Amino acid sequence: MANKRTRRELAAAFRWAARLNYHEAVANHFSAAVSDDGQQFLINPRGRHFSKMRASELILVDTSTIKESGFDYGVDPTAWILHSHLHRNLPHARVLMHTHMPHATALACLKDFEFMMLDQNACRFYDRIAYDRNYMGMLLDPSEGERLASLMTEGKDVLFLGNHGILVAANTVSECFEKLYYLEHASKLQVLALSTGRELHLLSDEIAAITRQQWDDYPEASEMFMAELMDILDRESADYIK
Ligand SMILES: [Zn+2]
Repeated sequence: MANKRTRRELAAAFRWAARLNYHEAVANHFSAAVSDDGQQFLINPRGRHFSKMRASELILVDTSTIKESGFDYGVDPTAWILHSHLHRNLPHARVLMHTHMPHATALACLKDFEFMMLDQNACRFYDRIAYDRNYMGMLLDPSEGERLASLMTEGKDVLFLGNHGILVAANTVSECFEKLYYLEHASKLQVLALSTGRELHLLSDEIAAITRQQWDDYPEASEMFMAELMDILDRESADYIK
């Protein structure tokens, strides 16, 4: 059953986000659509530590109740505003992951920063990143959810939230978590390279575009990635599937 598989994969993503230190304990949020129209989605319960997440605990919600409070459903209010408005406005973006993972967030805090085509991993994100440079406080106003959704225009599946964090969208949990993983890796490299103070050798748009296409064409990359992550959890902390 798709719902069961999605629950297990999403729980695995939470567990690994904790292992990789992409999380903030009980804060930050991942969601995954389970209905064909993308309007019903699973999301983490308010107050649960990422390292303890279980498949059965993920909360099933629906964008038809968008005007109600996240509290009514056991969902963090800022998570509700962000994910309900994005799922409603971007039904093709079936999985959404929002974190304040340190290296990508550090870059999001640099004035006028644009993600650099600095290495092979960075090229995965060529021409896919949108930027919000107008942080307006915590995500508690529905208009903020609408504003952020409007920034995810055609072809953009990563959002750098200035002075805040990042958001990644994808079709499946495995694609989304793999993208999150590579985004933080590429961001860490950029922070390290910037810290040297030396001039950076950036790739051309042409080479970045070719390399992105090569990444996109690589068969079953995210499926293999996720299968191995879940295999490790099966051996070390199998209660994530409960
Ligand atoms: Zn946040």
